[in-house]
Amino acid sequence: MIKSVCGYCGVGCGLEFEEDKLIGDVAYPINEGKLCSKGISELVSIQTPTRLLRPHIRDNINNEYKVSNWEDSIKIIADKIKNTDSSKIGFYLSGQLLTEDYYVANKLGKGFLKTNNVDTNSRTCMSSAVVAYKKSLGIDFVPVKMDDIFDSNLLIIIGANTAEAHVVFHNRIKKAKRKGLKVIVIDPRFTDTAKIADLYLPIKVGADIDFLNLVAKRIIDEDLVDYAFVEKYVNNFELLKNKFKRIPVTKMLKRTGLSKEQFEEFWTMFKENPNIISAWTMGLNQSSQGVDKNLALINLHLLTGKIYKKGNGPLSLTGQPNAMGGREVGGLSTMLAVHFGFEKESIQKVEEFWNTKGIQNKAGLTATQMLEANLDVLIVCHTDPIYHLPNRNKTEELIKKIPMVVEINAYENSETSKYAHIKLPATPWGEKEGTQTNLDRTITKQEKLTRTSIDCKPDWEIFQLIAQELGFYEAFSFKNPQEIFEEYQEMTKLNPHLNIYETSYEQLRKEPFRWGDKIIEEKLFFTENEKANLHFVENKLLSERTSLEYPFLMITGRTRDQWHSGTKTNLPRTLLKYKDLDFCEIHTKNAKDLGIEHNDPIRIISKRGEITSKAFITDNINMDTIFVPISNRDVNYITNDLLDKDSLEPDYNHNAVRIEKLKKTP
Ligand code: SF4
Repeated sequence: MIKSVCGYCGVGCGLEFEEDKLIGDVAYPINEGKLCSKGISELVSIQTPTRLLRPHIRDNINNEYKVSNWEDSIKIIADKIKNTDSSKIGFYLSGQLLTEDYYVANKLGKGFLKTNNVDTNSRTCMSSAVVAYKKSLGIDFVPVKMDDIFDSNLLIIIGANTAEAHVVFHNRIKKAKRKGLKVIVIDPRFTDTAKIADLYLPIKVGADIDFLNLVAKRIIDEDLVDYAFVEKYVNNFELLKNKFKRIPVTKMLKRTGLSKEQFEEFWTMFKENPNIISAWTMGLNQSSQGVDKNLALINLHLLTGKIYKKGNGPLSLTGQPNAMGGREVGGLSTMLAVHFGFEKESIQKVEEFWNTKGIQNKAGLTATQMLEANLDVLIVCHTDPIYHLPNRNKTEELIKKIPMVVEINAYENSETSKYAHIKLPATPWGEKEGTQTNLDRTITKQEKLTRTSIDCKPDWEIFQLIAQELGFYEAFSFKNPQEIFEEYQEMTKLNPHLNIYETSYEQLRKEPFRWGDKIIEEKLFFTENEKANLHFVENKLLSERTSLEYPFLMITGRTRDQWHSGTKTNLPRTLLKYKDLDFCEIHTKNAKDLGIEHNDPIRIISKRGEITSKAFITDNINMDTIFVPISNRDVNYITNDLLDKDSLEPDYNHNAVRIEKLKKTP
C-alpha cells in the first residue's frame, strides 16, 4: 500500500493506493478517508487515448506534428533560447506542477536565464488574494486552517461554491454544522453550497465591496471594534473610521440588491457569533477590483480581532492542488523566490545561494501579459492558456505570432497544443513523486504509484535538460526530487518564517507538515512597523456595464467533477462520468421574456465573441445574471480581458452579454 495525495484541488486529500485501487486515507487529517468523485477517479495506469507519450515537433503551426526525440527537441529549444534576448522568453507554469518542478523552473528562469517572466496560471485564480494578504498582513499567508471551522461559530462563504469546487471540505463544513457551526452564503446564484446555509444572501454581481464596507461601518458604528487588538496590531484605524463617516449607505445597499431586512439578518448573526471564518474564492478574486474585494473582507477580521485566533480568520480557498507550493517557491513573476521580492538585499541573498549573477531587479511579465508581449519563446507547462485566458479570439491571434511555443504536458488534448511548435510528454499524476502544498499550508508527499511511461519525464527533469543543454550543469545536476526539495529547504532558511526546513522527505512520507503556525501563535505581521494594515477601498464600478445591446451579466464558476482545463476530466463519458458542461443558467422570467424554454439552443454574445449553448431555466439565479461553467471549452470566447490593476487577474465574473434563441435542429 502506498500513501499519496490527490492532485485535483487545493483541499489536498490523502489517499492510499493498493492493487490498482484508490481509497481515501483514513489516517489523513484533512479528509479522514473521504474522497470526492474526482479524487476517487484519479487516472492511475489508465492510458487514455489523449495521453501525450512522445516528443513532437513541427516548423509551423499549419503543419502536422512529427514524432521527435528528447535529444533533438531539447537542443532546438536550447538553441533558440541562446539566441533570444532574455526579456523575450516566458515560462507559463501551473498550479498542477509539484513544488520540485516549480523550484527548478524558477531557478532556471529567474536565476540563470535572467528573465523574471516566470509566472503561473495561478495568476488567473488567486493572485488577488496573494496581493491582498501582502498588503494587509505584509506576507502572502493564509492565517486559517480548514479544521478551524470546528472551533468557529460562523462561516461566511462569499463568492465560492464549495459543494462543487472543494467537495471534501464542503463535507467537513456539513459535519461542523452538525456540531453547531452556522453558515452564511453570499452569491448571485443559489448554489448547492447555498442549500446548506442558515442564511443565503443573493447579492448582485459586482457589489461585494459595497456589502463588506457596510459591515465594516456597522462594526465601527456599533462599537464592535476590538480596540485592544487594533491598538496593538493594526494600522490606519482612525483613517478608516473617518472615511466610513462619509460613505453613501443607502446607495451602497441598493447596489447589493439586498433588502434592509436581509442585511439586518446578516448583521445579527455577525455580531452574535464570537468566532468567525470567512471563506472565498473566484467570486472575489476574479474581478477588476479583486484585490480591493479581498481587502474589504480582511478589514472585517482586523477590526474585530477575529484573526490569528482559533476558529477565526480570512480563509482564501485555493483552486489548484499546488498553487500554494508555487507561491512559496516564487512561481509568480511578481516574486523572486521563497517569499522574497526584488529588493537589492533579497536579490543578493538569492544570487549567493544559487551561485549566479545578474538577477533582474523588477517583476516579470504575468501570465495575463505574456501573450501580448511579443515574446520569441514561450514555454507552457501543464496548463492551457488558450482555453483558460479570457477573450480567446484575441489570445488565439496573439499566440500565432510567437515564433516558438513549447508545450510540456501529459495530455495532448489541450487547446494550446493547436498553436505549439514542440510538445514534450510529461509524466502525469501517479507516475511521479514530489511535494505539494494545499490551501491551508499543509505540505504532503505525492508518491509514484505506477511506472513512468516510456519516453515521458517529470517536469523538473525536462527543465534540467534544457538547463544542462545551455551549459548550467553545476546548478542543475539533481538526481531525484528529494535532492531538489532539500536544496529548496536550505533556501527557505534565508526567510525563516517559511519553516519548511523543519520537515524532511522521510517525515513527509509518514505524515503531512504545515508550515507557518508560529506566525499565528506569535501574531506576527510582516509590514514595516509589524502591524497589519486596514485599507479603505471603494466600489469603483470598473467592470463592464450592461447596455441595451448586452443586457445580461454573465458569471462563471466550477461544476462538480471538473477540474482545470479538462484534459483529465473532460473525457468521453465511457472513461469518466461528469456533469454536462453545455448549459447556461438563465432566470425563468428572463427566459420567458425571450421566449426561451428549458434546453433550447441559444447563442450568447459579448463584444468579444459568441458561443452556443443550451438554456437551463432556473429561479436559482439573480434576474439579469446568467451562469456558464468555466470548464465549458468555449466560454472564454466571450469573457472579458479586463484585469485588476494590482494582481493582474482577469474579470471573469462580470461580462456584459446578450442571448439569442436558436432554431432547434431537427
Ligand atoms: Fe481531490 Fe479535492 Fe476531491 Fe479531495 S476534494 S478528493 S483533493 S478533488
